Amino acid sequence: MSARAGIIWSTLLIMAAILSLVFIFFTLLPGQIPAAVWQYFTPAEVERARRYQQIMGLVAILAFLAKTAFLVWLVYSTRSGAWSERVLRLTGGRYYPALLMYFCLIWLLLKAIGLPFSFYGSFIVQHQWGLATQSLASWWSDYLKGSLLDLLLSGASVLLLFWATGRWPRTWWVAAGFFLSAWLFISTFLWPLIIAPIFNSFQPVTAGPIKTMVTRLANRAGLKIDQILIMDASRRTTTANAYFTGLGATKRIVLYDTLVDNYPSDEVEAVIAHEIAHWQRGHIIRGSLWGILANFFLTGLLYAVLRVTFTYEITRPGPYPPQILIVILLFLQLVSFLGQPIQNAISRSYETEADQVALELTGNPGAMIRLQVDLARKNLADVAPPAFIEWLTYSHPATLKRIRAAEAYPRGQ
Ligand SMILES: [Zn+2]
Repeated sequence: MSARAGIIWSTLLIMAAILSLVFIFFTLLPGQIPAAVWQYFTPAEVERARRYQQIMGLVAILAFLAKTAFLVWLVYSTRSGAWSERVLRLTGGRYYPALLMYFCLIWLLLKAIGLPFSFYGSFIVQHQWGLATQSLASWWSDYLKGSLLDLLLSGASVLLLFWATGRWPRTWWVAAGFFLSAWLFISTFLWPLIIAPIFNSFQPVTAGPIKTMVTRLANRAGLKIDQILIMDASRRTTTANAYFTGLGATKRIVLYDTLVDNYPSDEVEAVIAHEIAHWQRGHIIRGSLWGILANFFLTGLLYAVLRVTFTYEITRPGPYPPQILIVILLFLQLVSFLGQPIQNAISRSYETEADQVALELTGNPGAMIRLQVDLARKNLADVAPPAFIEWLTYSHPATLKRIRAAEAYPRGQ
């Protein structure tokens, strides 16, 4: 590895290590709770939610560190080259079967490392804290379905990517950027039709109070919205949520049944208004445009880093040798972790905008405040996390900020 490559990789690793350490520090010592919180929450509620978030935060960061450590070890040891030669021997020197076998091996090992963290975080802890309604069998069924889907999609992407490195040795990153961007749109369009139904069932709302609410809010927003679905979230969790998804003809608002069944109607209205606001402001399409930019930046940077790191291996004719895969995986692991603050800042700006538009649509800040309080209580949210934790990991503004924005309405406009 050249000196330049050494500097690039050390920088990425040191930055990820620093962010992880600061994250662990603030997770263990979240600090003072602002006095404004006591108007809405009891000390016991805040304490309990903080403990839960501490555990979940530690599980997430330890899973990240374990996988990263494994990839770093592979990249810097001679093991990966030896494995790559072994699969080439096993497949009689045929490149694509060898690549696929190598990919499956690494994928399985990463899965095995992640499994204890997934199981502890999304099954054990959820049951301990009374948030889960799911049986062990059902958890495994979700896990296996999700893993199979991941194996198929990432396996196909790896084959395509390595094929492109042989086909266009100097410009494969442009093709990869195009492919990822096209896939972003295709998957956003198809996700609600193909992927979501694998895990949940969805009931369209065709009549009743929710339908009336949607029609009234949609008229006010100047939209025609006919796709409102209720999802059977209660088969897994007691937490409540809603989301807006899809593209073009598949655009839809999805409400958890845990929300519709357990929350007062003016709070459900505030949620629907928030999702309609995402729709009206085109947040999915705006987010996808950022996604395209990120894709080309990512693939271009990957190409540059690989060129500097492997002058010899990747300037030979033909597709990259299979062991380059672990370097690509380590790169993606580090860059997506380091890119989180940017992604989350964009997401939080959309969420802030959606809250503001929702207040204009309902004209009911009181219901919005009660909604935020109820959601935080039932979902065990840290209502006022340390600024660093919010900056790094929060896709939505923290509860206290959302309450403050509603309190300021309409002065806040
Ligand atoms: Zn939102």
